[in-house]
Amino acid sequence: DYILVTGASGFIASHTALAFLNAGYRVRGSVRSEAKGEYLAKLFADKGESGFDYVLVDDITKDGVFDEAVKGVDAVAHLASPFYILDVKDPQDLIQPAIKGTTGLLKSIQKNNPNLKRVVVTSSSLAIYCMESKPPTYHFGLSLGLRSRPSYTEKDWNEDAVPHVEKMGLGSVGFHSYSASKVLAEKAFWKFIEDEKPSWDGVTVNPPLVIGPIIHECESPLKVNTSVAMFYVFAAGMKKEEDLPAPYHGWVNVSDVALAHVRALESPEAAGERFITANGFVFGQDYCDVLHKRFPDLPNVPVGQPDTHEERNKQVPTFDGSKAAKVLGIKYTPFEETVVDMGNSLRERFTF
Ligand code: NDP
Repeated sequence: DYILVTGASGFIASHTALAFLNAGYRVRGSVRSEAKGEYLAKLFADKGESGFDYVLVDDITKDGVFDEAVKGVDAVAHLASPFYILDVKDPQDLIQPAIKGTTGLLKSIQKNNPNLKRVVVTSSSLAIYCMESKPPTYHFGLSLGLRSRPSYTEKDWNEDAVPHVEKMGLGSVGFHSYSASKVLAEKAFWKFIEDEKPSWDGVTVNPPLVIGPIIHECESPLKVNTSVAMFYVFAAGMKKEEDLPAPYHGWVNVSDVALAHVRALESPEAAGERFITANGFVFGQDYCDVLHKRFPDLPNVPVGQPDTHEERNKQVPTFDGSKAAKVLGIKYTPFEETVVDMGNSLRERFTF
């Protein structure tokens, strides 16, 4: 089968393209520039001449922009969407490409590909997680003294982000702006399926913070992508002792997420389902513990309170990744291995 992977130049999508190629599929990647396409063509050159090709899709908010890209493929993994939470000037800069990228893609499929079988959309745990309506006991270093530890499942929806953005407009918090983009894009996806009743079916993959080795092109470690950059600042000694207790988020290895996309397209039982892919919670302290153990030469990595993960972990919300393990057969990669691979891949490219 032939799979379109949108936003193939990104951190997760490049791994997703690789996972499809390794599973024997042909892959077409959509990218915003020829240079990014050529980088990937070189990266995947060993997958054979008809293994990987790319198509230019520069602006996912434009009508009909996926018209050519969807022709002739059997399924689509849709990952192109803006992901940043710092310096968000207008929440619509995230929301519009997220929604229109999704609905525009689906309209192009309806118009130009009657044989398509399935669409997998990369949503997010942030379409699920809602700290105000389902609060964690502990957030950003503050114990709120609440009783139970929420475990989010695929039944939950983030009910905080969209009202926040509606109320705050340009003053919205970046985290909520990005979360709202994921909620609205995923809801638009399910609504399209409900309204249009297409011949293909849909699946979403909802990962928390995705980490692991990088294989995509990036000019600097801070611009690598948002989730890996959040690790890099610890590895590069840019964080201080006082930053360590703050919880970050649930996490999962990038190769596990990539494989989840492959399995989500293959599994008959996956049709119409959401899948959280998650393997625990990460604190800045956890990064520092692995960095001290496995990269002892790195200077300026704070020490903090080593080996306190279990104690801290009791106080944070979890994401239940068991459905993806069961239905998609995902065996989650351990944290230390994930961080070591991520650190090595960054040090192969950048000096720090
Ligand atoms: P990246 O920033 O590495 O990748 C994003 C991809 O989307 C890139 O290919 C980028 O193109 C493309 N893109 C962004 N904005 C636009 C736009 N306006 N028009 C066209 N293309 C655009 O991020 P990730 O790999 O981390 O994220 C991939 C997907 O996974 C996103 O949907 C994200 O929301 C989701 N996700 C990510 C998580 C994480 O922790 N990383 C967690 C949960 C979900 P270009 O390379 O040209 O910039």
